[in-house]
Amino acid sequence: MRYLSLGDTDDIAASCHHLTFGGTGLVLDAGMDPDQDGYAALPPFELLRDRPVDHVVVTHAHHDHLGALPVLSREVPHAQIHMSRPTAMLAEMLLPSSARLQKRRVREGSTSAAPVFDVEMAEALSYVYETHLLDAPFDIAGLKAEGPLAGTFYHASHVLGAVGLLIEGYEGGTRKRVFYTSDTSLQPQTILPEADYPDGPVDVLLLESTLGADPEAETTSRKAEEKRLGKAMADVLEGGGVVLLPVFALGRSQDMLALIDRYKRRGVIDEDVPVYTAGSMRGVAEIYDKTRESTPRLDPEFEVYGVDQERYPRTNKKKAEALSRPGIFVLTSGMLFERTPSFDLAQQIVGDERHGIFFVGFSKEGSPGDRLQIAAASGEKMTFDPDEGPVEVKARVERFRFSGHSHRRDLIEVVDRVKPRTVVLVHGETAAKDWLKDNIEFFHPDVRVIIPEQGQEIEL
Ligand SMILES: [Zn+2]
Repeated sequence: MRYLSLGDTDDIAASCHHLTFGGTGLVLDAGMDPDQDGYAALPPFELLRDRPVDHVVVTHAHHDHLGALPVLSREVPHAQIHMSRPTAMLAEMLLPSSARLQKRRVREGSTSAAPVFDVEMAEALSYVYETHLLDAPFDIAGLKAEGPLAGTFYHASHVLGAVGLLIEGYEGGTRKRVFYTSDTSLQPQTILPEADYPDGPVDVLLLESTLGADPEAETTSRKAEEKRLGKAMADVLEGGGVVLLPVFALGRSQDMLALIDRYKRRGVIDEDVPVYTAGSMRGVAEIYDKTRESTPRLDPEFEVYGVDQERYPRTNKKKAEALSRPGIFVLTSGMLFERTPSFDLAQQIVGDERHGIFFVGFSKEGSPGDRLQIAAASGEKMTFDPDEGPVEVKARVERFRFSGHSHRRDLIEVVDRVKPRTVVLVHGETAAKDWLKDNIEFFHPDVRVIIPEQGQEIEL
């Protein structure tokens, strides 16, 4: 069995892995780096040219796992593409919208990078997705497979449709098993229950590492964070201010709407406070609702679209009106990337102490979201627009922990549960992988732990 990382290996960027298993070539995920534009954002697909690719499996619809799929499919048009049904529904919406965004950004002059695929290509692709239910094995044997090879999806929590993948088949005459967690949460969220894993042992575990260097995550309880956020929001709203929650369109935004609904029903915040949402998160919410009876839920009755919400105002006049009274803005992007609604609104409200900007997800080092949190904590100024220069941070800026990822003790627990012979650490910064490697080796001295380098093939 051979493993090759095509994605970034020292960062949380594009996820993409190649596995040769008993003569079959598999690509797991086809992500794009959200920090880059055009071809620079793609995994180095040219490395696949002298390797077999029979099947592609996409574990969930986040851009860093799905975004490059149309380009990958152009490289290996014969490969079959597998995903869960909700992921296919999301991809059908998100990939054409990514193509439109790439084109618009060139037109607006905000990037010089040519689009890497167009709307027609993304739409045509949705006809070839093969979807599978959870816990139901499907055939992924390639043309030169030694024998049968099966994939099975396991509920990964994280976001709607997210799955872990178990691969079982024969290599060199022996039966082998590989489990890829992808992004996964061992704790229940507001809408989705916790992840499910296969029984061990497995030969190889591909384990995500996102929160490996985050000691605080493992000591924070979600319940306590829910309470703290509810109180902070109520304080700002009662003081006449507005609350901005920067979120990812897929996952965190639906989770926050469910939480706001809970706060309103419990009287933590006033039922009449308007909630503003924008863009693709509204379409994503519809897909959450359409699949509420066919996918794992904590409460199948709950509908995201059932939470009263208004469209984020487009005109300055309407925006000023909305900002003149208490209100909650659930806007993308989660890390406050430039030219996004959350960046725009943060810039507008940051200088007024009545307002609150509350981060509820991960902010990558160096992102505007991360810079704002550092500026607020140290009392320094923050630069949104280089032409306008640094501005004072007067709004209340805080971070709350609502990760859709497992904290690092839970990641060690995944190792305890699935009992791998070898662990390959993926999707995390270097410090995160180093912590996990040390701890897995400490608790399981007989397990081989590998931190792969991009482009380097490893014999497993
Ligand atoms: Zn993800």
